[in-house]
Amino acid sequence: MTMAKKELKFNSKTIHGGQRPDKAYGAVMPPIYQTSTYAQSTPGGHQGFEYSRSGNPTRTALENSLASIENGRYGLAFASGLSAMDAVIKLLNPGDEVISTNDLYGGSYRLFRQVFEKYGIVFHFIGMQDMVAINEKINENTKLVWVETPTNPMMNVVDIKAVSALAKKHDLLFAVDNTFATPYLQQPLNLGADIVMHSATKYLGGHSDVVVGALIVNDKELADKLYFIQNASGAVCGPMDGFLTLRGIKTLHVRMQRHCENGETIAKYLKGHPNIEKVYWPGFEDHPNHDIAKSQMNGFGGMISFIPKGGTFEDAVKIVEKLEVFTLAESLGGVESLAGHPASMTHASIPKEERENSGVVDALIRLSVGIEDVDDLIADLEQAIG
Ligand SMILES: *Cc1c(COP(=O)(O)O)cnc(C)c1O
Repeated sequence: MTMAKKELKFNSKTIHGGQRPDKAYGAVMPPIYQTSTYAQSTPGGHQGFEYSRSGNPTRTALENSLASIENGRYGLAFASGLSAMDAVIKLLNPGDEVISTNDLYGGSYRLFRQVFEKYGIVFHFIGMQDMVAINEKINENTKLVWVETPTNPMMNVVDIKAVSALAKKHDLLFAVDNTFATPYLQQPLNLGADIVMHSATKYLGGHSDVVVGALIVNDKELADKLYFIQNASGAVCGPMDGFLTLRGIKTLHVRMQRHCENGETIAKYLKGHPNIEKVYWPGFEDHPNHDIAKSQMNGFGGMISFIPKGGTFEDAVKIVEKLEVFTLAESLGGVESLAGHPASMTHASIPKEERENSGVVDALIRLSVGIEDVDDLIADLEQAIG
């Protein structure tokens, strides 16, 4: 956990933010410090690192980069996105209440309901487009508001500034899962969030080769508490994964630019397709939260969900099985295009009724549009959709 400089513009920050050549030999990329421990000259006489759960120079390089690109002061890198969330919930005590978006990532939902509820933490899942509804859920036990935006997989957009104002008024901690948007498209700390969380497994890493999580904050006391939990619980990002994630971040801006371009082309193609019933993408002017998306995001990303005509489980399965350039797989945000079936894959841990209430019906297909030639992607969709 370390502080980051703030001067550079975003595209430069992805490459240089918080980075300096390695002290030993001037290596431009931080070496993979594949070590658990560090020699001491006298008890306590170390060079800033004593044990790799508490700190590792490769992880520090990544944490500095994370802080820089999210325009925060402190970054913390974890073993996975969920372990980063786990650390945030461990700030709470039994009896504390959390208000969360209702169509969030299935694994986040599972962590809240099936792990933390039994420790006496109470979770409320609501549509966060409605400030009155959020207000109604706030009571003296409420401690945290957890928001994912755009939401997974329904692409709803939550007004971060408005929720932040409400959270501040009631002295609540406000965390935003920024996995889908990335700081290229949206910087929640600038919009009033206290904590930004990432599954760096997705766009930040960008190459589907690591599982890593991140938290970024501005407040020193909050950073200290999270660092205490990170070290005490120990779900840290390893040096090899830290290196790969850092390498990924250096091209985040060019990848995101292409994800957005390809995403827009494919969203429009699907919307105009006679065999498609409905397309969810925040860039459409008739998307219910388009104005908020436009005001708080620099683009609309490459995540798209859609429902084929017919609208049955079988209709969706037929399409995803036929895809050849798109790979049917969990996850998102890599250079390669992926297709997912939320009801049976990423969101299977959410009970069917609850899932369908938030729109995740059996026929829904989710695309993570990669950075291939968009013509190849469209040809692939065309042969699969027919
Ligand atoms: C994948 C994902 C997570 C969980 O992150 P892991 O790195 O898989 O632990 C959390 N939130 C969102 C939005 C995700 O897509």
